[in-house]
Amino acid sequence: MLEFYGQLLEPEMRGWFLVVMFLFGACVGSFLNVCIWRMPLNESIVFAPSHCTKCNAKIAWYDNIPLVSYIVLRGKCRHCHEHYTIRYFVVELITAVLFCGITALQNNSDYSFLPIALTTTAVLIAAGIIDFEHGIIPDKLTIFLLIAAGCLHWWINGMSVMFDFLAVAVAVAAVTGIIAWAGKIIFKRTVLGWGDVKLLTALGTAFGLMPLAGIIALSAVLGIISGVAGAVKRKEKIAAQEIRYGVFIAIAGITYIFFRDWFSNYF
Ligand SMILES: [Zn+2]
Repeated sequence: MLEFYGQLLEPEMRGWFLVVMFLFGACVGSFLNVCIWRMPLNESIVFAPSHCTKCNAKIAWYDNIPLVSYIVLRGKCRHCHEHYTIRYFVVELITAVLFCGITALQNNSDYSFLPIALTTTAVLIAAGIIDFEHGIIPDKLTIFLLIAAGCLHWWINGMSVMFDFLAVAVAVAAVTGIIAWAGKIIFKRTVLGWGDVKLLTALGTAFGLMPLAGIIALSAVLGIISGVAGAVKRKEKIAAQEIRYGVFIAIAGITYIFFRDWFSNYF
C-alpha cells in the first residue's frame, strides 16, 4: 500500500509540481492524438513511428515536441507543408490544462485521488473525441481504464477496496447491459450502445457507484439537451437524432473530477 498522506510538498515545490503536471499533460495529450487518429483505423499505437499522414515522412523528435512544435512549424509538415488540423494542438493544450487544474484542486496533504483522476481524464478525452468523430468507443480504451483503475485501487487503497470497486463494475455492466439489450428489443433502435456500456463500467471501477450515478444523471441531461437542440435545429423528431452519448459521458466524467465535493452532496 502506498501512502499519499502527510505534508508532502512545500508551497514552492507545489508550484513546480503544477508546472511538471502541465508538461506531463501536454505529453499525454500528444499520445492521445496518436490514439485518436489510429485507434478507429485499427493501427498500432505503439509500433509505428510518428509520420506525416499525407506524405508519410517520418517526424523527427524535434518536430514532435508537444505544443512547441505545432507553433514553431505553424501547424505544417516540415517536408510537404501539409496543414495539420489545429485539433492536435488543442488536445495537447486541453490535456495539459486539465492535468494541471486537477492537480491544483487536490488537498496538498492527500494526493490519493490524483492517479485515478488523471488516468480517467486521459481516457475520457480520447473516448469523447473518437465517439464524436466516428460514433464508436474503442474497446482498447475502456479495457485499459478498467484494468488501470483496478490496479490503482489495489496500489493506493489495498486489495479489499479493489474488490469493492470490481463488484461495482460487475453490477454496472449487468444493469447497463440489460438496458442496452432491452432498449434494442423494445424501441428497435440503439438506446445505449455497447461502447457506452463498457465506458460506464470502467468509470464505475474508477469512481464507485454513487459518483457514477451522478455522472449518468449529468450526461443524460446533456444528451437530452443536445437531442432537443438538434431536433429543433433540423426540424426533426427527437427520436430521429443520433446522440453520441460517449461524448456526454466524457464531459460529465471530467466535470465530476473537478466538482467531486459538490457531487458528493447529492450522490
Ligand atoms: Zn508531410
